[in-house]
Amino acid sequence: MKRVIIVGAGPAGLFAALTLMSKANVLVLEKGKEIYERRCPADVTECIHCKICDVIHGVGGAGGMSDGKLNLHPKIGGDLTEFVSEKRAYELIDRVDKVFIEHGAPEMDNASPEDLLRRAAAAGIEFLPIKQRHIGSDRLPVVIDSIKRYLEKGGVKFRLQTEVADILISDGKVGGVVIKKDKKVERAKSDYVVLAPGRAGSSWLSAIIKKCGIAVQHMPIDVGVRVEVPAVVYEDVVSINWDPKFRMMTPTYDDSVRTFCTSPHGFVVRDTYDDMVGVNGHSMIDRLSNNTNFAFLVRVRLTEPVEDTTAYGHSIARLATTIGGGKPLLQRLGDLRQGRRSTWRRIERSYVKPTLKAVTPGDISTALPHRIVTDILEGLHMLDQVVPGVASDSTLLYAPEIKFSAMRVITKDGFETSVDGLYTIGDGAGVSRDMVNAAATGIIAAEHLMDRL
Ligand SMILES: Cc1cc2nc3c(=O)[nH]c(=O)nc-3n(C[C@H](O)[C@H](O)[C@H](O)COP(=O)(O)OP(=O)(O)OC[C@H]3O[C@@H](n4cnc5c(N)ncnc54)[C@H](O)[C@@H]3O)c2cc1C
Repeated sequence: MKRVIIVGAGPAGLFAALTLMSKANVLVLEKGKEIYERRCPADVTECIHCKICDVIHGVGGAGGMSDGKLNLHPKIGGDLTEFVSEKRAYELIDRVDKVFIEHGAPEMDNASPEDLLRRAAAAGIEFLPIKQRHIGSDRLPVVIDSIKRYLEKGGVKFRLQTEVADILISDGKVGGVVIKKDKKVERAKSDYVVLAPGRAGSSWLSAIIKKCGIAVQHMPIDVGVRVEVPAVVYEDVVSINWDPKFRMMTPTYDDSVRTFCTSPHGFVVRDTYDDMVGVNGHSMIDRLSNNTNFAFLVRVRLTEPVEDTTAYGHSIARLATTIGGGKPLLQRLGDLRQGRRSTWRRIERSYVKPTLKAVTPGDISTALPHRIVTDILEGLHMLDQVVPGVASDSTLLYAPEIKFSAMRVITKDGFETSVDGLYTIGDGAGVSRDMVNAAATGIIAAEHLMDRL
């Protein structure tokens, strides 16, 4: 049997392995640990995916320690229809969902969205009534572990805490990888290599791709704030969709603004990238707050001659970090509207209590571009017609929240690169942004590879 090496045991790598199981000799190489050995030493209400902990590395990948919200839609968390027909995209989503259910994800009934659709349409907002499955942070490790054990039973080999440093190429064809383990360097030969290193490995992947002369493309980023409101304000909406997706076009700039990653009764957390800080949010099963938070993001696309959205996002994050004295900024919506900074005194008088305290009360309009601030104000005003109370003066805004996207590797059909036998999939290759889409890209690449086998 031909040998296939898969780099990364996130959803993309695991689903590629599931598809290839028993059809090829599959070895999965993963830098991180077993799902049950993964730990986060930091206080999760203050920090996520810092480099010292296992939150984004290990079996299950970046979302392995999250509460596992599956968005069962090809255009959420990426856009599968860019790579396959709409019909195939839905089939793939279905296949991914079935695998999660077979391995222990709960069955769910999604409530009827009719009323919300009507309210959103009346306010000129698009509500995407997508099917969602919420696995939960307590059950997700069980599901991931079950998938891994099933793969091992089917003959797939795993080598964990094993970092791939490079790939081997000769005469335009891939021949294996170079592994770094315990300060030793070794070569592992294979007929095919599937790179699925996720966002954590995207810089490494870019370097490999550049060395091979494969083209890449900058992708749009999302820039905005984390909005925090009393949980009661969002209660009826999250009873319909756990993570409701609203999209709107703003009146002044005609920009696309959307809600993302809603955390009912959740916590706003600090997000750290290199020398910059940002924010994010999550919910926990055993610890509930009185608030609900969600990201409110403006899509930013840059065109020639300046296309580097990542550099632009970093410069915004760096400015916000400077203005916040190394902490994220917090402002009440009422203060932003009135053009004044928030202070701890004003925030304490307000009835929405921040769930993230390691912040600097300030003025987000000194850190975010005017266009983005305008989009946020207009977008929240529109959303208030669907979710009354969301744009009240006491609503809290944390900045910056930035969703970077890896550079997209330009590939042929099936995510095969111009190097014969080398495939790039998942978030690290810029072709997905969530678990379901990443998993689907794994299936697409593996099926393409199987045709060649
Ligand atoms: C905190 C958090 C919460 C999230 N919550 C959700 C959610 O609820 N729902 C959802 O759909 N999405 C969620 N996501 C996003 C989701 O996790 C990712 O979109 C998805 O995991 C991407 O899958 P992937 O396989 O492409 O990459 P990843 O899951 O990132 O996996 C890549 C793996 O490759 C390994 N790796 C990297 N480089 C190397 C190397 N050189 N050698 C060996 N191994 C390497 C990494 O250690 C990692 O385990 C969340 C992300 C984070 C960070």
